Amino acid sequence: MNFLRIAAVSKSFGANHVVKEFNLDIDKGEFISFLGPSGCGKTTVLRMVAGFETPSAGRIVLNGEDITALPSRQRNIGMVFQAYALFPNMNVFDNVAFGLKVAGQPKAEIAARVSEMLKLIHLEHLADRYPYQMSGGQQQRVALARALAPRPQVLLLDEPLSALDAKIRVSLREEIRHIQRQLGITTIFVTHDQEEALSISDRIVVMNGGRADQIGVPADIYNRPATRFVASFVGTLNMIEATVLDQSGTVKIGETVVSLPEPIVHRQQGETVSLALRPEAGSLTGDLRGDTALPGKVLSTHFLGSVIRTKLDVAGHQVSFDTFNGPETRLPAAGEPATLRFAARDLLVLQD
Ligand code: ATP
Repeated sequence: MNFLRIAAVSKSFGANHVVKEFNLDIDKGEFISFLGPSGCGKTTVLRMVAGFETPSAGRIVLNGEDITALPSRQRNIGMVFQAYALFPNMNVFDNVAFGLKVAGQPKAEIAARVSEMLKLIHLEHLADRYPYQMSGGQQQRVALARALAPRPQVLLLDEPLSALDAKIRVSLREEIRHIQRQLGITTIFVTHDQEEALSISDRIVVMNGGRADQIGVPADIYNRPATRFVASFVGTLNMIEATVLDQSGTVKIGETVVSLPEPIVHRQQGETVSLALRPEAGSLTGDLRGDTALPGKVLSTHFLGSVIRTKLDVAGHQVSFDTFNGPETRLPAAGEPATLRFAARDLLVLQD
């Protein structure tokens, strides 16, 4: 049985249908990210799990109990928000102790638990500090300790890193993941940052317009995007249109006939199909033993340090490919013809 089940949940605000029949089953101890652009409904789903919003339709079941209509305070769910949201008039100890005091726990137990939580986030030495005396990263660690102190069944993190600068973001996300694994706590993490989601999650839910476009492990989301939206939102991806010659998977890209690794079931002969190719899947130097070659013309080259990104025109499509920058690397210059080589099995057939 799944630990947390979000079953056909929808949410409308007036005529605005923000979440549409959203389904997700989460295992105990899993770390799930909701990834998607602003306004796609990530926070609204999270708030429904927390009990801050009531679904217009559907059910939320936690550990076998239907919690759809249960008040937030009875759900035993911990939450960390984007803005630090600590109580400004309380020191670190009292902030972390807050939920335990509300639950009426004995003083000695509260002190022991707070001390345990502060150890977990490596801030034992700052118990007497007030929020204004701490950095953003420290405040977010305290917010995490405060959320975890009452031993919640589920931890919800709503863009907890987005107000922090880049270096702290990376170290704190690693710390969050470490603590989450240590405690084995079921976690949902909302982000619009694909690198963050790819690096931290057991599974990612890519959301688009209130629906889950794809649910999968990070490598699948990146390597095998199911839809055009996922392909364009996650990673840099080249889209190439091709004409279907037959449904067994033969297509024409420009004047070149290419055999795809899989049949095309959702397009008829003569129709256009969208294909995707990762920037690292193509070669312009002939060192890749691909089975497919397409003629193109270089538009520009960009030195990115360890790789050189070449933009080229292939059959009327602008595409970019990366070449490792070694001492022997020779790439055609802007304006010159180039041959793009790749393996047809690396082409992804996208659904719209
Ligand atoms: P962001 O990353 O910007 O927070 P999101 O994917 O989390 O985006 P939501 O916050 O879930 O998106 O919002 C989805 C849509 O629902 C938006 O159009 C928003 O304006 C609308 N919305 C959210 N809460 C309410 C509310 N209480 N009343 C009316 N509309 C709302």
